[in-house]
Amino acid sequence: MSPLSDELKSLLKKGGADLVGIGDITGIEEKEAISKEFHHYTRAVAIGMKLHKFKQPEKMNGELDEHSLMLAYMKENEDITVKLGGLLQEATKFLRKRKYRCMAIPPIAVAEERKFISALYNLFSHKMAVTMSGLGWVGKNGMVINGEYGPNLIWATILTDAKLTPSLPQLESMCGECKLCVISCPVGAVLGINWSRARGKLEVIDLEKCSSFMSENSDKYGRPVCGICFMACPMGAKKTRKG
Ligand code: SF4
Ligand code: SF4
Repeated sequence: MSPLSDELKSLLKKGGADLVGIGDITGIEEKEAISKEFHHYTRAVAIGMKLHKFKQPEKMNGELDEHSLMLAYMKENEDITVKLGGLLQEATKFLRKRKYRCMAIPPIAVAEERKFISALYNLFSHKMAVTMSGLGWVGKNGMVINGEYGPNLIWATILTDAKLTPSLPQLESMCGECKLCVISCPVGAVLGINWSRARGKLEVIDLEKCSSFMSENSDKYGRPVCGICFMACPMGAKKTRKG
């Protein structure tokens, strides 16, 4: 690994990142996943922070209080998103000081609130950065799943032309025969498809059904939200949600 890669990874880890991966995005397949506006970038740095403070609220009358669960999830998301924003600033400063071009792409929650960044999401996906850096696959629930932490991570990305050493990409889903997210979705929006890189931009979720259910939750939670298929995923549960 190049000293520059080591330095950047160590800067990000010291700043609180739990996972940092570097993906080579110079291949044709990857270029197709990124709009031509970004084709001068050669590496995607995927930065993950785990939802380490997120705990399920106590059961009430033997049932989990879904409302409290959702609010706890949203709050944890917001806290981590702020921390990732700080990390992105540090890392881009580090790269620009060394005369490399770079662009920071914050977590999706921020994108909803900032118009310019929101526009980028039509042109770029964090899933590409994470899978190309070998840190996870796209689960049947459409989320990035990491072998150690499951879906319990918030991701940000830096696109750059810095000479960073890439890792091997993740090519296949590791969901196997699991169907817990498929069964848990209240509107049958999880289609039960195993992702693979070779299959390209594959829709694993019925987006119309999912977004209409999320919109129904707006009255209760102040914005469209649903984490049911996320909470159903057993991957990494011991390491994070119960921690
Ligand atoms: S977010 Fe909710 S509605 Fe959408 S796929 Fe997951 S469980 Fe279904
Ligand atoms: S619940 Fe099972 S099938 Fe769904 S994303 Fe998690 S591991 Fe994959």
